[in-house]
Amino acid sequence: MKRPILLLALAATLCATQNLFAWGRLGHATVARIAEEHLTKKARANLDKWLDGESIVYYASWLDDYKPQMLVDLGYDPAKGDRMHQLPHTFSVDAEGEVVPGNRWPGTDKYLANCLYYIEESADMLKNRIRELDDSTRLARIQLIVHCVGDMHCPAHIRYPGNTTIGYYKVDYFGREMRYHTIWDSEIVQRPHPWSFTDLAWLLDRYTEAEQAEITSGTVYDWGRESAAASKCIYDVQPGESIAHDFIKKYKPLAESQIAKAGYRLAAVLNDVFGK
Ligand SMILES: [Zn+2]
Repeated sequence: MKRPILLLALAATLCATQNLFAWGRLGHATVARIAEEHLTKKARANLDKWLDGESIVYYASWLDDYKPQMLVDLGYDPAKGDRMHQLPHTFSVDAEGEVVPGNRWPGTDKYLANCLYYIEESADMLKNRIRELDDSTRLARIQLIVHCVGDMHCPAHIRYPGNTTIGYYKVDYFGREMRYHTIWDSEIVQRPHPWSFTDLAWLLDRYTEAEQAEITSGTVYDWGRESAAASKCIYDVQPGESIAHDFIKKYKPLAESQIAKAGYRLAAVLNDVFGK
């Protein structure tokens, strides 16, 4: 255990309700594990230095698990009205599928954060100004990238025009009422096999070198556009619909390919920032 004091302090801020805004921990850890396998030697050495020897897997879900602390570490000020919804876990596209700045938070004049902008901003800060950042800011920006490259690939984290609620409606899932969003965060990843994150990373990291090169080409906005196009089909499932094995069979390949792509792309971002 490398940071007992920091961990104790952060444990006090642990949120009671978790995983409402993310791939579950399994998905995020798997993305980070795949990425770790594809880091260059230089990127790995630099991350070892900045993360004090911790794995990026260790930090994959901090943006979900330590929201109040992350809000402060990322430069928000709760005393000035900054709130959790400003932490970036989702992004929005327009009718043509192009990434747009964001949607208004229902009932307020605030705009939801767009995770793609924060990924790009964080990568720029870490790549060009890392020595100007204090320890907590630097760590928070690395945590943000590791988490948000995962989240941007979760189909239920994309807000489409006229459908900005990201699946916050109930369906009947194997005979029990469940929020549709939750199924995309965790259920579809875990069912039918509750693999560990190392199992799942090993099982999904099967793309050829050429396929990986294709997946990692382009920018974070290209990846967002592609994720949005691939994921729109999840809203074929309507509120109140009963879904079970056929749903898993139809959509699990999408969840799995999104996790694998997120892993390769996270490695690409980290290699660009830390590998040169
Ligand atoms: Zn998240």
